[in-house]
Amino acid sequence: MVPKLDVRKANAEKKYAGDLSFTFEADPTLVEIPYVSPSSPVEAKLHYEILEDDSVEIAGSLAFSLKGSCSRCLKETEQRVSGNVEAYFVPDGESGEDYSYSNGVIDFGEFLRDSLIFLMPSRLVCSVTCVAPDYKED
Ligand SMILES: [Zn+2]
Repeated sequence: MVPKLDVRKANAEKKYAGDLSFTFEADPTLVEIPYVSPSSPVEAKLHYEILEDDSVEIAGSLAFSLKGSCSRCLKETEQRVSGNVEAYFVPDGESGEDYSYSNGVIDFGEFLRDSLIFLMPSRLVCSVTCVAPDYKED
């Protein structure tokens, strides 16, 4: 489950920075590679920092696995995908550049969805030396 960050509560408790570690199921429709789907939950490790104006910086990493047909030879394969992500949330923001949050609570849903799209590879390959049968020389 994706936790929410209660900025008001964190401020009241003077927890201006902290770490969040959780897993969630990736939306399979985010994978655009044919015959490939997520084969593990997404592991998220995020660090947050609440700034004086109540804007919040998020930085961390996401990791997950994809399984399905190799985009070159069609053999069944699995690949680990991971990468760093970051975001900036502003309270009740009007700026289109940043994420905004309202009522003092940050919902990570949109940010995590955008991050997965950003990290998603365009193809799945069983090995670096994999060559499509059509291109094999013999
Ligand atoms: Zn292959």
